[in-house]
Amino acid sequence: AKQEGRGRLSFYEARMGVQVRERRQIEHDLRLAVERGEMRVVYQPQNRIDTGEAVGFEALLRWDHPLRGSVPPNHFIPIAEETGTILDLGEWVLRETCREAASWDKPLRIAVNVSAVQLHAAGFAELVHEVLFTTGLKPARLELEITETALIRDLPRALATLRRVKAMGVRIAMDDFGTGYSSLSNLRAFPFDKIKIDSSFTRSVDTSEQAATIVRTVLGLGRGLGLPVLAEGVETTGELAFLGEEACQEAQGYLFGRPGPIDGFRHLTTGRPPA
Ligand code: C2E
Ligand code: CA
Ligand code: CA
Ligand code: CA
Repeated sequence: AKQEGRGRLSFYEARMGVQVRERRQIEHDLRLAVERGEMRVVYQPQNRIDTGEAVGFEALLRWDHPLRGSVPPNHFIPIAEETGTILDLGEWVLRETCREAASWDKPLRIAVNVSAVQLHAAGFAELVHEVLFTTGLKPARLELEITETALIRDLPRALATLRRVKAMGVRIAMDDFGTGYSSLSNLRAFPFDKIKIDSSFTRSVDTSEQAATIVRTVLGLGRGLGLPVLAEGVETTGELAFLGEEACQEAQGYLFGRPGPIDGFRHLTTGRPPA
């Protein structure tokens, strides 16, 4: 049996080979995706809960692969982070969204996700400065969304970078709060302007007493630290009612709008009713 197998690819080896090749292909395609025009940004409104008005948008990446179709960010962002392509991709998203937001009639905020790799790369603060200068976007309209996981790689370095960005007037939001390495000392030590509660808590807030307790606790934390809280993934009026009663400041989710091309939100960026 041993002799038989020698020199031949086992089923598992063959399958591994296919996976490795597929992965290399995606890495390769990802490197070229921006210049090939396959990447685009969709926008999702962020709303005040008391008045219901939109106060900004989160920018979310979409990759339309010519053969694979739409590749979800949860699939390609980790690959882009491992290969370093996220640096080019992240710079493209930042430039694209700041330029877009600078063209709006209303001074709404634009929230941009920043990966750990970007945050720890040399020159990130300079990049933000240059993009704001080039696009003319007022720094206070830019909000960088950072997860706690992104901070822990090198806390002193992340802190130094965020302080420099913050000194420009840019806002900083803690993303996905409650998942990962939630640490209260990070919340206190870092110059955050907002806490975003992860959708996994929001989703169950009207049905699970446990989720409700967690959300109340985060809201209390926000009050104590003087930080407004945004709840992600709000889908139902029941969830919104709970959040309103508990004095959560902002919400984002399908209830207010699904992520989409900015042209679908012109009534919000111009303040004029849809044509
Ligand atoms: P995230 O930052 O937590 O973004 C929120 C995700 O929740 C988005 O998924 C959004 O489409 C989805 N979502 C919003 N409202 C609802 C809702 O009511 N119900 C449900 N079920 N989902 C909702 P998306 O667009 O697939 O992005 C997934 C993740 O990929 C993001 O999670 C973020 O971590 C990452 N990502 C997306 N764009 C970028 C980017 O430009 N740069 C980086 N570094 N990461 C990005
Ligand atoms: Ca985010
Ligand atoms: Ca989230
Ligand atoms: Ca629910």
